[in-house]
Amino acid sequence: MRFIPLSVPNFSGHEKEYVNEAVVSEWVSTGGSRVGEFEEKIAEYVGMPTAVACNSGTSGLHLANLVAGIGRGDEVLAPALTFIAAVNPIRYVGAEPVFIGCDDSLCMDPAAARAFLSEHCEMRDGCCYNKRTGARVKAIVVVHVFGNMADLPAFLALAKEYNLILIEDATEAIGTRYTEGPLAGRMAGTIGDIGVYSFNGNKIMTTGAGGMVVSNHPDWAERAKYLSTQAKDDLLQFVHGDVGYNYRLTNVQAAMGLAQLEQLEGFIAHKNEMHAFYTEQLDGKNGYRILSFRDGVRSNRWFYSLYLEDPRHERDAMIAKLAENKIQTRPVWALINEQKPYLANEAYSLAKAEDYRAKIVNLPCSTNLTREDAQRVVDLLLTL
Ligand SMILES: *Cc1c(COP(=O)(O)O)cnc(C)c1O
Repeated sequence: MRFIPLSVPNFSGHEKEYVNEAVVSEWVSTGGSRVGEFEEKIAEYVGMPTAVACNSGTSGLHLANLVAGIGRGDEVLAPALTFIAAVNPIRYVGAEPVFIGCDDSLCMDPAAARAFLSEHCEMRDGCCYNKRTGARVKAIVVVHVFGNMADLPAFLALAKEYNLILIEDATEAIGTRYTEGPLAGRMAGTIGDIGVYSFNGNKIMTTGAGGMVVSNHPDWAERAKYLSTQAKDDLLQFVHGDVGYNYRLTNVQAAMGLAQLEQLEGFIAHKNEMHAFYTEQLDGKNGYRILSFRDGVRSNRWFYSLYLEDPRHERDAMIAKLAENKIQTRPVWALINEQKPYLANEAYSLAKAEDYRAKIVNLPCSTNLTREDAQRVVDLLLTL
């Protein structure tokens, strides 16, 4: 029986060729032409004038918080249901997250965010303050969970009304874009003040580790690049104007990224096809639902969520049963407000996040998943 992994990379394009070229050229670190080229190609793909490459999505999110001017004493609305790397950078800059639950897109619920802002905050001199803590609420970090677009028109309205910076964690959502409505044509990550992509090994396209920052404020993008390269003012004399970071992507990684980007639209088509297959085979059958993606959006459908509607299904037993049959699956993340570093932080409107946390099993979704393997997953699930 073949092992069916949850999500593995797909190097069926020019990856080996481009990476080999980089090695042969001896430009293996942050110098070399591929990094700039990768930035240009990503910028073009997402429809932005520039993009800033960095060595992970997490470092990109750290840079986003830094250049947005979020700092000590500030508060930031953040999702309770997501990967913890969306939230830790808020702490890196000395600010505190306030956790908000999700809606049926699995992304932060804008109605819950609005309820927190209107009931627990007040506006003074054009700024928003948390009435309980007295802290300035400065930003919202929305995550496009599993490639599904968060409700950006609603978040844009909230950001405007409460004078908040909108940071898009688009680490799971490169290629996801609106196809209808006022934001038609706009890509996830390019709509708020600043957005971040990830090219970690489990994401839809990978550079091993890597990320990219885009911003609608050209000076923010420029500052992100400056901070990511040790805040160097003078290349020869080693003059540094700030406390910088070693966050730049390498030429080898960028070479891999260029080959992956060539394949991205094909990967997205495959993800969409296999999601349709699971939906057709499992949705509404045997006490299962397959969660869908937002209407009016072309989603990259990065991860597929099987929702255990029938209470006779027990998540962990099911994951174990699948593992016995060499099928790798996983539950959705434990809520961040329940994790040790964040137990003291405020958290609101968690009912849906708790329900999805308890009842979702993520199914194999690699871009090279075959129809036969997906059929094996389906056949087993229908016997449980
Ligand atoms: C993957 C991911 C990150 C971090 O990206 P890395 O490249 O792994 O550092 C941040 N937020 C979310 C929601 C992610 O899924």
